[in-house]
Amino acid sequence: MSSLSHLASVDPEIYAITQAELTRQQSTLEMIASENFTSLAVMEACGTVLTNKYAEGQPAKRYYAGCEIVDKAENLAIERAKQLFGAFHVNVQPHSGAQANMAAFMAAGLKAGDTIMGMDLSHGGHLTHGSPVNFSGMYYNVVSYGVDAQTERLNYDEIRRLAVEHQPKLIICGTSAYPRNIDFARFRAIADAVGAIVLADISHISGLVVAGIHPSPFPHCHLVTTTTHKTLRGPRGGIIMSADETYAKAIDKATFPGIQGGPLMHIIAAKAVAFKEALSPEFKEYAQHVAENAQILASTLQERGVKITTGGTDTHLLVIDFTPQDKTGKEMQQLFEEIGVTANKNTVPNDTRSPFVTSGVRLGTPALTTRGFDAPAMKALAHILADAILLENPPLAELKARIEALGEQFPLYPELLAKSQVAV
Ligand SMILES: *Cc1c(COP(=O)(O)O)cnc(C)c1O
Repeated sequence: MSSLSHLASVDPEIYAITQAELTRQQSTLEMIASENFTSLAVMEACGTVLTNKYAEGQPAKRYYAGCEIVDKAENLAIERAKQLFGAFHVNVQPHSGAQANMAAFMAAGLKAGDTIMGMDLSHGGHLTHGSPVNFSGMYYNVVSYGVDAQTERLNYDEIRRLAVEHQPKLIICGTSAYPRNIDFARFRAIADAVGAIVLADISHISGLVVAGIHPSPFPHCHLVTTTTHKTLRGPRGGIIMSADETYAKAIDKATFPGIQGGPLMHIIAAKAVAFKEALSPEFKEYAQHVAENAQILASTLQERGVKITTGGTDTHLLVIDFTPQDKTGKEMQQLFEEIGVTANKNTVPNDTRSPFVTSGVRLGTPALTTRGFDAPAMKALAHILADAILLENPPLAELKARIEALGEQFPLYPELLAKSQVAV
């Protein structure tokens, strides 16, 4: 990244904030499962003159002149994404995962009042899968499915029963806090039984999918959305894909003019860079390490007697259930933060506590694995977390020192030395 010298002189306040945030990222352990650290190449692409260009429409079919150069960037992003996911059609313009889902609903031909089925947010779904506070819950008739009370896993027989009873037009599969693989073929079979369209939202797992660690939603799902900034390790944004040409035109029309105006060409260029990186053998290795690190984290915590929902993980994340310790997700999120670990509270299946308190914490390994965390480091980290969870009066200063020592072994962005330690 540039030295940010212009930013520092034009706006010292914002500059100081960027440096303080850099220091925060470098000096804490990031375990929020939806976060990652992009390469410097991705970040550089975000900070280019491509931000200046209006390019409403599709490559070679724009509403503005002068798009012939940014067209090349968008075409590269599209071609690389197709290769990466094995998709027939890709639209790289959605500004975020939520926008990608909104456009996918429109591409599926949904009208207000239509019935959709999605996973309950408190069981690991996403706001955009039918939460009452989101557009998806406000404008559609939502039927939610959850996980089985005993196994804490998806119960496909129950999902089928709900689908037959309610005859949804769209069934969404995909989660933000479910640690197990999703059976896309079974979702398709259920959808076929009731004539529904399947939307797979692989926002969390797309990095694992492209590396072949999690099964692919293709060719089973009609529409596929993902964010680009989670396990995929690209810039903040979303994309929409389809398995064949049936929904290709509808996807493009829904994205623009359906729900968005001009695309963010600098971010699309950065998506292209991230897709190139994700096509490399190194990325496959990275994704393998992400999953292995999650396994080690889960098994070490379990050996220490910590309860993990579903008894483990197949992916990059796990959810700790603090019910046996009678602790809340809220207090444990805070305790983790005090020792230098950033994570988020999360409901556990059939949680008796409110979403603001919760009985769990979600932990993910994508960001730490980008820093280079290996199996021994992950094991050491799991023991520190277990001490924090299980000890009667956890020695905070000591745990914090152990976290710091561990982090120092894996420097983040060593090229970027924070220029100022100004408090903001
Ligand atoms: C993160 C996420 C989204 C939303 O992505 P944003 O970029 O935050 O809008 C949508 N669906 C799922 C499953 C997610 O995990």
